[in-house]
Amino acid sequence: MIIRDARFLTSNTRVDLCPPPDRPEYAFIGRSNVGKSSLINALTSRASLAKTSASPGKTQLINHFLINEQWYLVDLPGYGYAKVSKTARAEWHKMINAYLQRRENLACVCVLIDSRLPPQASDLEFMEKLGEMGVPFVMVFTKIDKQSASQTRTLIATYLVKMNETWDELPRHFLTSASTKAGRDELLGFIDEVNQQ
Ligand code: GDP
Repeated sequence: MIIRDARFLTSNTRVDLCPPPDRPEYAFIGRSNVGKSSLINALTSRASLAKTSASPGKTQLINHFLINEQWYLVDLPGYGYAKVSKTARAEWHKMINAYLQRRENLACVCVLIDSRLPPQASDLEFMEKLGEMGVPFVMVFTKIDKQSASQTRTLIATYLVKMNETWDELPRHFLTSASTKAGRDELLGFIDEVNQQ
């Protein structure tokens, strides 16, 4: 897919204030600092479409971008940042649950996972929640340039073994780097595929 056009539309905290659900939508989410903003910018080839987070966990907004007038890319606030207050955490849950349950054009959630870390409880729990809600998702491993290809392979294999404990069918996964653009074409190709369905 060639990104001809990518533009910011809205930021808000309420699903009913999101743009009309008239196009397929792909939401990006992950633990704070996973590399979400960097990946969104790499995917869209825009230097600063998504703001890279100066203070992780601070912005709790649903950010909509329109891509090629064809689909929405959504930057959701990250989770798992230790310093976030209990109240902020509860608000995050409320907002994200409402979004996941009520956003009717949500085609797929891209769950971003740091490829360097062993499986983290917050990621596993979030994916279980998606499974329970019946929301389609893929796993997008980030920052693969930070280690050797063989280290990445080993870590991903371990991750998939862990996922196998819970899931009968493993979700699709992608290996990406915002720095080298690895995995960019594969992920955009996947979005193209789903858009054609
Ligand atoms: P966010 O909080 O998930 O939006 O994460 P950011 O996109 O702000 O990235 C967090 C940090 O990781 C920043 O210092 C980025 O420069 C760095 N980073 C993000 N993606 C990559 C990547 O693919 N490779 C490398 N080497 N660093 C990355």
